[in-house]
Amino acid sequence: MRFAYARIMQETNALSPVVTTLHDFESAHYLTGDALATAVGPGGYELAGFFKKAELAGFVDGVRKHAPGALTVPLLSAWASSSGPLTRACFDTLRERLTDGLRAQRARGLDGVYLCIHGAMGVEGVRDPETQLLRDAREAAGGVPVVTTHDLHGNLTRERVAAADAIVAYGTNPHRDHARVGRKAAELLAGITAGKLRPATAWRSLPLLLGGGRTIDFLPPMRAVFRRMRAAERKGECVAASTFMVHPWNDDPALGWSTIVHTNDDQAAADRLAEELAQMCWERRHEQPPTFAAPSDAIAQARKARLRRKVGVVTMADASDVVTAGAPGDSTHLLRALLEDGGDLVTYAAVRDPDAIETLWPHAPGDEVRLEVGGKLDPTSSTPLPVRGNVVSKHQLVGFLRVVVLAVDHLRLVITEGPAMVMKPSFYTDVGLDIWKADVVVVKNFFPFLLFFLPYNRKTIFVRTRGVTDFDAAYRLAFDGPMHPRDAVDDWRPRDRARRAP
Ligand SMILES: [Zn+2]
Repeated sequence: MRFAYARIMQETNALSPVVTTLHDFESAHYLTGDALATAVGPGGYELAGFFKKAELAGFVDGVRKHAPGALTVPLLSAWASSSGPLTRACFDTLRERLTDGLRAQRARGLDGVYLCIHGAMGVEGVRDPETQLLRDAREAAGGVPVVTTHDLHGNLTRERVAAADAIVAYGTNPHRDHARVGRKAAELLAGITAGKLRPATAWRSLPLLLGGGRTIDFLPPMRAVFRRMRAAERKGECVAASTFMVHPWNDDPALGWSTIVHTNDDQAAADRLAEELAQMCWERRHEQPPTFAAPSDAIAQARKARLRRKVGVVTMADASDVVTAGAPGDSTHLLRALLEDGGDLVTYAAVRDPDAIETLWPHAPGDEVRLEVGGKLDPTSSTPLPVRGNVVSKHQLVGFLRVVVLAVDHLRLVITEGPAMVMKPSFYTDVGLDIWKADVVVVKNFFPFLLFFLPYNRKTIFVRTRGVTDFDAAYRLAFDGPMHPRDAVDDWRPRDRARRAP
C-alpha cells in the first residue's frame, strides 16, 4: 500500500484587500519530498514555530498503526498566514504542484490520498476552491480514495462532501488536536482501502453565522456538543463526527455552521447523529460572541489594573484587526489611542507596514526617524499614523520577514514586513523585548494567545475599533438567504434541505 499526503492551507478573510501570493506560502511554510518526510518524522518539527506534530505527522503515525507495512509518500506542505484571498496564479501553481506530484506517484502505484486543508480558503474569482483541490487530487491519483481534514472554521458544501470519502475537523477550539485528526484520517483511509470501512456520510448545514458564545470546546455552551461527538466515537456510534463553527468572513453564499458524521455503512445512524448535532448547535444560536471594549475604556481598565501590571501584564487583543483571522494587521486605531491617552503605560504593539520597513531599513539603531505607519494595506479600516521615534533594533525573521522595533514615547512598536501575527510572547521576545517590563502587550489573535501568554497575562481586554475581523463586518457578505443572527430565521431545516439537494 502507498498513501500520498499533502497540505495546502490558508484561512481567507474575504473582506481583506491584502491578497495572498505564492511568496506568502514559500516564505512562511513550504516543504516537499524528503524535507517534508523529515519534518513529520520522529524528532522532526512539522510547522516550525507552531507545532512539532500536526496533521501530517499524525497521519504518518496513524498509517504505521492502522496499515502496518504501508508506505507514506510526502508530496508538499504549504501554509500561509490568514489573509485575503489567494491570487488565481498562486492557487493554480499550488494545485499544479499537487497534481503533478500525484501523477508522478500514480505511475508507481497509489492506494489513497490524504489532503490537509483549511476548509475556509478563498481564491480570487473561484467559488469553493478547496473542493476543486479535492477533485483534482482524486483525478490525478487515478480515482483512489481521498480523505481530508479541515480546521473547524471550514465551510461544508454539497460539492465538498461529495468530493471526499471522509472529512474530519479539529475537535478543539482553540485548536490543539491537529495530530489527532491526522491519525484519524489515516485510520479512515486504511479502513477504506482494506475494505473494512464503507463510509456512510451524513451532513447538515445551518444558516447560522455566529452563535455558541465564545465557541470554546471545553466551556459552555459548546462543551456539550464536543462531548457528544467524542462520546459517539468512543462508543462506536460513528467512526468520525465533526462540527464546523464556521469562519464568518468567507464569501461562499452557502455559508454556515455544519455537522458531518461518518459511520461504517449505517446511513440511518449517520443521519441521526448529524441531525442531533445540528440541532444542538441551533439551540446555542442565541449565545452570541462577547462585545468588546472601545480603546478608551480598554486603556482606562489597564490603568486601573495597577497590581496586575506589577505582577505581570495586561493583554489587549485588537479584535478588529486579528491577523490570525485574516486581517491585514495594519490598523492604527488602537495605536493612536495608546499614543494619545496611554502615556503612563509601557506598551508593546505591532503593525504591518512593508512601506515603512523600506524607509526604516537603511537606518541604524539609535537613529531618530519620523514617518507614517499603518493604515495603508487596508485604507478603508484605518488611516496612517504619524510617529516620531528612535530605531531600537532590526531583524529578519521567518514569516515576519524584515522587522524594525521603534521606540515611540512609552510605546515599543514592532513594525513587520510580513503578516504581524501576534499570538505568542516570542513575537516580542524574539526582537529583544522583555514581556515582564511591559504594562500592556497588544496581540492580534482571538483566543489561542490566552494559552501562550498564560505565564505573563494578568488581565485580558478585547478591544473593538473598526476592521475586517469585527464579527458584524461579515454581515455585508452575500448569503443564499436569511442568516442568523443578521436576519430572523425560525427553522434551520428548510435551508439545510435546499443546500443538500442535488
Ligand atoms: Zn480555526
